[in-house]
Amino acid sequence: MPLVVMKFGGSSVADAEKIKRVAGRVISKKRKGNKVVVVVSAPGDMTDDLVALAEGVTTDPDEREMDMLLATGEQVSIALLSMAIKEMGEDAISLTGPQAGIYADKTHTRARIVRIAPAKIYQELAKGKIVIVAGFQGINRNLDITTLGRGGSDLTAVAIAAATKAGTCEIYTDVEGVYTTDPRLVKNAKKIDYISYEEMLEMAGTGAQVMQGRSIEVGKKYGVDIHVCSTFSENTGTFITSEEKIRSRRPTMEKVAVAGVTYDKNQVKLSVIDVRDKPGVAARIFGRLAKGGINVDMIIQSAATERHNDISFTVARTDLKKALGILEKARRALGAKSIIYDDKVVKVSIVGVGMRSHPGVAAKMFATLAKAKVNIEMISTSEIKVSCIIKEHDLQRAVAALHRAYKLGDK
Ligand code: ASP
Ligand code: MG
Repeated sequence: MPLVVMKFGGSSVADAEKIKRVAGRVISKKRKGNKVVVVVSAPGDMTDDLVALAEGVTTDPDEREMDMLLATGEQVSIALLSMAIKEMGEDAISLTGPQAGIYADKTHTRARIVRIAPAKIYQELAKGKIVIVAGFQGINRNLDITTLGRGGSDLTAVAIAAATKAGTCEIYTDVEGVYTTDPRLVKNAKKIDYISYEEMLEMAGTGAQVMQGRSIEVGKKYGVDIHVCSTFSENTGTFITSEEKIRSRRPTMEKVAVAGVTYDKNQVKLSVIDVRDKPGVAARIFGRLAKGGINVDMIIQSAATERHNDISFTVARTDLKKALGILEKARRALGAKSIIYDDKVVKVSIVGVGMRSHPGVAAKMFATLAKAKVNIEMISTSEIKVSCIIKEHDLQRAVAALHRAYKLGDK
């Protein structure tokens, strides 16, 4: 009997009616002759609400206790879904991450899965039960509960699919699949039928919110076919799989230079003004930021004038306060003139494996933005991606123009 992993996000289990609907879908999957493992997220905005509760008692929550708190959200969903399934006449059992054998490393709030021991999952499936596993959580060698980073239920689902060699991992969400760009911004955005792991990874990393990036990495590593589809319709969604598999279905894959346009508003541009132009300066600035756990994205160093430089870079807006604290200390140590920032910027990106074989894709992006009168402040590229930092008020215009230029929309 084939084994299927189905994952439902928070918006799919936000209230009793929705939970019953999910129960119905899960039961019909089982009755079609499958063994079914279900992974669920916390209902609705519960995880955010739990974070707010913690912030109500302390400005600096202990990370172990934060994990203890956040892991409770998913437990609400698994218990309720199991009850709903039983009510509808099928047998089910809920399991926490630790009960399901999900072992994670010792990092709190963004742990990595190190091993899955699915013995109990198999035992319960063998009894004919639908097995419901809490997403986003695991246990470490100290027997402490850890969580896998925001959006981590996707990772739980893909990792279980890998460990159990399930045929597919189905990610049910409140949209119909992965789109060529955000349909809220561009009306004729189109659902993508097939997308490669590499493209999906870059899209997730540049702002597409459909799936957690790390879950795609795991899918790629273990060759798990992922189907992203809607909880609320029966339509086929988007398949995330290897380039080879896609090419066998769609020999024209490389003809498409760009698969999607993404954007990320969680960006702030920082500049260190008038810093000495000598060896070791960049190392000290970025070394301190790294030590503070701050990820730096794009970096530009302006041409030196009279042995002085400006160094600009971007970090997540959510890290701004912390970054400013670190940079102020660095500024004094290095004798730089000032630190300035701009938090009214966004990053727009184009992503596609076809870029490897198509010259001129980046040039076309710059020309398109120029024609739309959008000023580019910073640029970065990878093999299959080009990103630009632009002003936030230009976002809609920029995304729409790029989406049109690469002919991504429905007619
Ligand atoms: N409930 C967790 C979150 O909100 C995990 C998830 O939704 O995947 O981040
Ligand atoms: Mg989610």
